[in-house]
Amino acid sequence: MNIPGQVSSATPSSANETGDEFTRSGLQSVLTKYLSQEQITEIQNTYHFGAEAHRGQHRLSGEPYISHPLAVAKILAGMRMNAECIEAAILHDVIEDTATAKEQIAAQFGEEVAGMVDGVSKLTQIRFETRMEEQAENFRKMLLATVQDIRVVIIKLADRLHNMRTLGAMPAIKRKRIARETLEIYAPIANRLGMNDIRTELQELGFAESYPLRYRILSEAVRKARGNRKEVINKIRAAIEQRLEQEELPGRLKGREKHLYSIYLKMRSKHLSFSEVFDVHAFRIIVDSVDSCYRALGIIHNLYKPVPGKFKDYIAIPKTNGYQSLHTVLFGPYGMPIEVQIRSEDMAKVADAGVAAHWLYKLGDADAASSSSHNRVREWMRGLLEMQKHAGNPMDFLENFKTDMFPDAVYVFTPKGRIMELPRGSTAVDFAYSVHSDVGNSCVAAKIDRRLAPLSSPLQNGQSVEIISAPGARPNPTWLNFVVTGKARATIRSYLKNLRRDESISLGERLLEQALRHYSRTLEEMTVKTQSLLTEFNSQTIDDLYEDIGLGNRLAPLVARRIEELCAMEDGSQPRKPRAIRDVFIRYMPSWLGGARPSVRALVIKGTEGMVVTFAKCCHPIPGDPIQGFVSTGRGIVVHTESCKNIREFRKHPEKWVEVQWENDINDQFQVDIRVYAMNRRGVLATVAASISDMDVNISNVDIEEHDNKYSTIVFSIAVYNRVHLAKVMRHIRTIDLVVKISRKKG
Ligand code: MN
Repeated sequence: MNIPGQVSSATPSSANETGDEFTRSGLQSVLTKYLSQEQITEIQNTYHFGAEAHRGQHRLSGEPYISHPLAVAKILAGMRMNAECIEAAILHDVIEDTATAKEQIAAQFGEEVAGMVDGVSKLTQIRFETRMEEQAENFRKMLLATVQDIRVVIIKLADRLHNMRTLGAMPAIKRKRIARETLEIYAPIANRLGMNDIRTELQELGFAESYPLRYRILSEAVRKARGNRKEVINKIRAAIEQRLEQEELPGRLKGREKHLYSIYLKMRSKHLSFSEVFDVHAFRIIVDSVDSCYRALGIIHNLYKPVPGKFKDYIAIPKTNGYQSLHTVLFGPYGMPIEVQIRSEDMAKVADAGVAAHWLYKLGDADAASSSSHNRVREWMRGLLEMQKHAGNPMDFLENFKTDMFPDAVYVFTPKGRIMELPRGSTAVDFAYSVHSDVGNSCVAAKIDRRLAPLSSPLQNGQSVEIISAPGARPNPTWLNFVVTGKARATIRSYLKNLRRDESISLGERLLEQALRHYSRTLEEMTVKTQSLLTEFNSQTIDDLYEDIGLGNRLAPLVARRIEELCAMEDGSQPRKPRAIRDVFIRYMPSWLGGARPSVRALVIKGTEGMVVTFAKCCHPIPGDPIQGFVSTGRGIVVHTESCKNIREFRKHPEKWVEVQWENDINDQFQVDIRVYAMNRRGVLATVAASISDMDVNISNVDIEEHDNKYSTIVFSIAVYNRVHLAKVMRHIRTIDLVVKISRKKG
């Protein structure tokens, strides 16, 4: 990875300065151990390409920059990674730091290498800022989710390892930040992948940098304690070796040195003193087979007594990252505890290199060369699963790992750098609702990676998302077509439902008021008790009754007549006769309902008195448009423009059509969508929005339909009085230079 500041191109350079960096790196001698001469020549060519690309760049230490990628490649060669991976390591900073493009690498070194280099560059662009623990966890997941090829992570870890080894040249404040990031992000990832060698080195280096004082005190204590215990250790070692030999069990015995960071963590998490943690001798026995592991266990349990409850069989039940071993603790001489780990050579490889062990490359192994990286990981996981099966333990121990490697989630940043986890396929609207319901309900546009983007576009890992909201904006029903989170869906639905309910209730109330007026009654002075009214109409609340009337499920005049009867009964009088109700019946009876309603207010649609009228969201009719009415259950009459595409859909139901006409003097505003096709310049949205506001027109929603480097297609939902008004607004917008085209959006 390119840590900012590691590259400095200011240093003057001579033409052949990088001449023998390849030789100097010592990479070749590692490669000859497992690659063919042909492959090594190929890698040498890659080196020349990389050296050329980085020419003139230097690390802060003064060395030519190419020495860093070579060192990273050498770490990976030590892990026996295949030739493509070594080539990718040599080129890993080329896209990020030089003018070289991915296509160029693909043309020269193949898609596989180019893919890895590109992957490493992408990881480099993701920056970790927040220090919260939960955030570190999400960030780790984000990194793993971002890569297609697990070797990208392995290269990245090697890159980080070399940067940590050479941290000295950096300014102190950067060293601290990088070290902390190493401890919080990269060491846990190495652990997750079972790469213990890399993990421990990252931890030791990170610890030394983050807590220099604690590191110094601990290492001094360890040095002293080690000197004191040399004799005892040698005695134990000799005893174990002798016994293994007697039993004719071939194997290696290694004294195991505890790492400072793990001592530190143990002291801190278990509140132990240094001697409590450190006065434990640790050995590792490596044998040839699984059988030998259990035999060796028997032998040492026979030599020293085991501490009860400390034996762990990670062979039968491997750790989640594939680690296998037998662990036991013994009562040693003078009662000193001895920790022993027993494993086979194969298990040792996995324990040190983890997932990377599956790339261990054998000369002439054609299979290993061809099988894709993804398959390797799957193979590895299948291996883990197999081990788990044999252990007879149904624990779903792979679940965590699987969700990390093949997640159903995307991870994106908020403008403040917080990481949000969302289901795969989530859009900016899902993001808005996951921040807060209010943010979702009032969102009108989104910026993804600081550029305006459609609210519907699926989010990608690592993007930063900013929601632009407007007070008074409402959720758009079309959002239901693309949101994926339950929260967004439920909140939009309930908002729209409440909206419709509120409108129906207030209309129902007005209708009933009107109907009662014919009996010279008002809602306030009904003598009948509310409760008997509700029982009569089988409603839970008075609002439910109004809603029923508003939706056309009950006819207001009939409800009014019944109320009149109930009131008369209450008063012990004769029910009053309605005034002039006949007229209303004749004039306003809609044929399709067989009922009649009195007139309520200044209507916008002739012949729909007393009914809920909604305007279709597909075509947004405005006064002046030729229109058609369609009767819909629970929604009253839905008005479409005659040119609306959906009208064809409804042809099958001619009985539901009603002829409708605009009233003459309408003084209401209507929503309409206009599509503005404009040059993609900074501030274009603001310019167009300002021009609309100039006309004193409200914008209720903004949606970016399409967006590329040159042009944006922006849809504004605005409120206008009629066609003449709309034409005026569109003419005004057309005068903006950046606007190429403008049209009304229909259907
Ligand atoms: Mn690098």
